[in-house]
Amino acid sequence: MQREAPHREALASRCSSVGGTLYDVAIIGGGPGGYAAALYAHNFGLSVALVEKEELGGTCLLRGCIPAKAWLQSAHVYSLVKRAGEFGVVSSEPTLDWAKALDRKNNVVSGLVKGLGGLLKARGVEVINGYGALKDGGVEVTANDLSTSRIDAANVILATGSVPRSIPGYEIDGHRIVSSTHALDWESRPDRVAIIGGGVIGCEFASLLGDFGSEVHVFEALDQLLPETDPEVVKTLDRSLRKKKVKINTSTMVGPPEILDDAIRVPYGDQSVEVDAVLVAVGRAPVTDGVGLELTNAVLDHGFVEVDAATMETAEPHLFAVGDIVAGSPQLAHAGFAEGMAAITYIATGEAAPVDYNAIPLVVYTDPEVAHVGLSAAQATEEGRNISVTSHGMRGVGRAIIQGEVGGIVKVVAETDGPILGATVSGPGAGEMIHELMYTVAWEALPAEAAAYIHAHPTVSEAIGETLLSASGRSLH
Ligand code: NAD
Repeated sequence: MQREAPHREALASRCSSVGGTLYDVAIIGGGPGGYAAALYAHNFGLSVALVEKEELGGTCLLRGCIPAKAWLQSAHVYSLVKRAGEFGVVSSEPTLDWAKALDRKNNVVSGLVKGLGGLLKARGVEVINGYGALKDGGVEVTANDLSTSRIDAANVILATGSVPRSIPGYEIDGHRIVSSTHALDWESRPDRVAIIGGGVIGCEFASLLGDFGSEVHVFEALDQLLPETDPEVVKTLDRSLRKKKVKINTSTMVGPPEILDDAIRVPYGDQSVEVDAVLVAVGRAPVTDGVGLELTNAVLDHGFVEVDAATMETAEPHLFAVGDIVAGSPQLAHAGFAEGMAAITYIATGEAAPVDYNAIPLVVYTDPEVAHVGLSAAQATEEGRNISVTSHGMRGVGRAIIQGEVGGIVKVVAETDGPILGATVSGPGAGEMIHELMYTVAWEALPAEAAAYIHAHPTVSEAIGETLLSASGRSLH
């Protein structure tokens, strides 16, 4: 699909205001989807206004990916020091300085927020602080003092992100019943925590709180943690969480909580557990109310915005949506980056540069990390494909043995006599290793083509090389 590139004269004719600044693109929302679009626009010389009501960075930078991974890093160091004796390193039992870890997390976040501001400035992006909403083909910005101003732009990208969902009876109060947003700022370690939802957020918090020695109970409605992920790989995570004494309750729904003086009682089945805090992690809802979508022809599906997947354009011409609000797209920061870049490319060139959703990796930063790309065996079978599945455990992998982390596994799904369709990895560094498999999926490599290259020895990645060799019909070790 092609359309004429929006030359400046053409842009000008679309705008009703006279005398105000005319931007090629106005973006509402300064999270990964919005700021990636703003940054990428410089490649095409587009002028950009970016409207953000808080600090720059969105969920990912302020209360998601980055702070969560900072906490997980502290948990990793803590548990490694605890195990130091195994490696012949004598140390005293570590103590946890929660305030210091919180401080470090905050410094990591503020450093990146500052860096992002500098980068946007260097790229000439006009950052406007205020609440943005679509109005009469442009954007109305309401400042903190409630004064309003208007931005005229030839194209608008909506990138308003998502907020945590809750379930009835577990209304988030920010103190005892919390979302991940609050849990990232706990001022001390909660001793007993119930986590509702064993998806990505639930598992990451279970992993870090388990490492820190909290008593953790996870309640997942479906029959395994990370329900979309390969069950054999999830077992490796399950084993590791149980080693941290995390109590995992799958196929379990909780009943309404009972608020006691010094605890919350969470009932499930014919049992209950008393905890100090409940973390609700049952998914995130798109933020699409109050941004003026009702004034446009854009179509919503359960609050998510429908777009042309090739261009990210909504049913309203020149209105685009990217990030967590997009219907059918994974709620991942890097999916938002890709969508922002796709929208800008189309706006600037008139040529569609669609996101290859099939090759977007997912990384769960638990211990061990779990990472996935492409189709799982279940999804491929559901699509009616004939597949072969090959796996290789980490037990015999030299580097994994050296690191003392042998619980992982690599699993590759390929079409019978055809290309690699997907892969799942757990183990040390799985979140880094998945990217070589990302290329095999994206480039539809045959197992034998990918297996033709030798991995450095000793590395954990050798497990991938071994799996690819086996998938090509010839194994080594
Ligand atoms: P999720 O969809 O990953 O998991 C929610 C889980 O809650 C599911 O397993 C679901 O079955 C379960 N659930 C729903 N209702 C329930 C109930 N009443 N009782 C028990 N279980 C219930 O959502 P999330 O973990 O909240 O994360 C939100 C989004 O953010 C996801 O799209 C996720 O991919 C993304 N995210 C990604 C990362 C990462 O990439 N590392 C990290 C955090 C969040």
